[in-house]
Amino acid sequence: MTERIVVVGGGVAGLVCARVLQAAGRDVLLFERDAEIGGRVRTRRVDGFSIDRGFQVAFEAYPTLGRHVDWRALDMRWFAPAGRICTADGRTTLVGDALADPTLLWPTLTQGGLSWGDLWRVLRLRRDAVRRRFEECFAPATLGRSTRDYLAGLGVTPRGIARFFAPFYGGILLDRSLETSASVLLYTFKMLAEGRTGVPRAGMGALSAQMAAGLRPGTLRTGIPVAGVTVRDGAVRGVTLADGTAIEATAVVLATEAPALAKLAESAGSSVTVPTETRGVTTCYFASRTPVLPGRALWLNAAEPATVSHAVTVTEVAPEYAPTGWHLLATNTVGSAAALPDEGLLAGVRADVSRMSGRPLPEDLRVVAIERVPLAQVAQPPRATQAQVPVRTEVPGLVFASELWHSSSLEGAARAGEAAAAALIGTDRPA
Ligand SMILES: Cc1cc2nc3c(=O)[nH]c(=O)nc-3n(C[C@H](O)[C@H](O)[C@H](O)COP(=O)(O)OP(=O)(O)OC[C@H]3O[C@@H](n4cnc5c(N)ncnc54)[C@H](O)[C@@H]3O)c2cc1C
Repeated sequence: MTERIVVVGGGVAGLVCARVLQAAGRDVLLFERDAEIGGRVRTRRVDGFSIDRGFQVAFEAYPTLGRHVDWRALDMRWFAPAGRICTADGRTTLVGDALADPTLLWPTLTQGGLSWGDLWRVLRLRRDAVRRRFEECFAPATLGRSTRDYLAGLGVTPRGIARFFAPFYGGILLDRSLETSASVLLYTFKMLAEGRTGVPRAGMGALSAQMAAGLRPGTLRTGIPVAGVTVRDGAVRGVTLADGTAIEATAVVLATEAPALAKLAESAGSSVTVPTETRGVTTCYFASRTPVLPGRALWLNAAEPATVSHAVTVTEVAPEYAPTGWHLLATNTVGSAAALPDEGLLAGVRADVSRMSGRPLPEDLRVVAIERVPLAQVAQPPRATQAQVPVRTEVPGLVFASELWHSSSLEGAARAGEAAAAALIGTDRPA
C-alpha cells in the first residue's frame, strides 16, 4: 500500500500541514471541496476590485503563521495602529498606539476619545500582554474570564469599554458583546503591540496562494469534496470522494472547518464534539471616486444599535484593491444584524457610514459586493479557547488539524496544521 497522506481542506490549516509534511519528504495529496484553495482566506475580482472573503487582516507578529509566509514577497500594505471612534452624536476621535507610531500621541491625548485614566489602563494592558509569553496569555486566570469582566477588573470604565473595546473587538473577534475569553483579548493585544497588521497588495487570498505555490505540482486537487474516511482493520486506509472514487492513504488529516470535521470524523468511527456557536460577519464593499472614510486607521462605530461595527477604506492602505481613480470601502456588520436581508442591511449601513463620515454620502457611491460569512470564527467563550478539538485521535492514521486546537484565528489554523504534521512525522515542532 502507498505511503501517501491525504489532507482534507485547503484553508490555512491544511496548507500549512501539507507544506510541513512535504518538507519532511512525505507524499501528500490535498483535497479541497471548493474550486479555489484558501478557505476563509480568499480574494475574488469583481469589476477590477479585489474582494476579500470578508474584511480580514493578517497580523505580522503571529509566530507560527510567520514561518509559512514571506511578508516581503506579499508586498504587504500596513494599517495605522489606530482606531477612529465615532459616537452617536457624530463626533470622531482618534485613539492610537503611540509606542508604535509616536505621531499618534498628540491626537490620542488631546482628542478625548478615551479618558486619560482609560488610556493609562490600556497602556498597562498592553505592557502586561507584551511581557507574557504567548502561552501565558492562556493561563487559567484569563482563560476563564470574559473580556468584559477582565476589562472591568482592570478598572476600564463602562464608557471606555463601550467606545473603544466593543467596536474594536467587534472588529477583531466579531463579538461586540465582549463575551469572548480574556485570553483572546490578551494574545491579540500582544500581537497588535508586537507587529503590524495589514493586507497583501493582491488581497488576502495572496497569502493562501503563496502557501500553495510552495507545494509540489499535483499535490492540490480543488473542486473535490471528500465524503468520508475509510477505515479497515481498525486503521485508516484512505478517503472516499463525493463521486465515489476511493483514494488510498496510510494517514488522513482532517483540516476542514469544525462542523465538516465532526462529520468526516464520524465516518471514521471517531467522535468529536465541536462548538456550534459561530461568529459571522457581513462585509459590504462600496466603490466611490473619493474615500468616504479616509485614512489608514480602522473606523469604529461606538453607537448602539450598530449596523456597521467597523469600517475602512481599504484603498487608503492598499490602492491596488481598486482600479485607478477608484476607492473601495469595506463596512462590517456583526451579530444578528449580519443576517439582515440586503435591502435592510444596506439602508442601515448607509445611514451609519453617513453619520460616521459626518457628510451625506457621495452620489457615485455604489455597491460592488456583499460578502456574507456565517462562519468567520468559532465563538471562544471563557474556558473554551484551547484544545477544543484534539490533534491525535483514537483511530490509527487519523489526525485533526482544526484551528480549535488553539484558537479560531489564522495563527490557530497554522498551529493546528503544524501540530497535525508533527503528529504524523513524529517530530515535536514547537506549536
Ligand atoms: C471575515 C473574516 C475575518 C477574520 N478576521 C480574522 C482576523 O482578523 N485575525 C485572525 O487571525 N483570523 C481572522 N479570521 C479567522 C481566520 O480566517 C480563520 O480562523 C482561518 O482562516 C481558519 O483556517 P482553517 O484552515 O482552519 O479553516 P478554513 O479556512 O475554513 O478551511 C477549511 C477548508 O476545508 C474545506 N472543506 C470543508 N469540507 C470539505 C470536504 N468535505 N472536502 C474537502 N474540503 C473540505 C473548505 O472548503 C475550506 O476551504 C477571520 C475570518 C473571516 C472569514
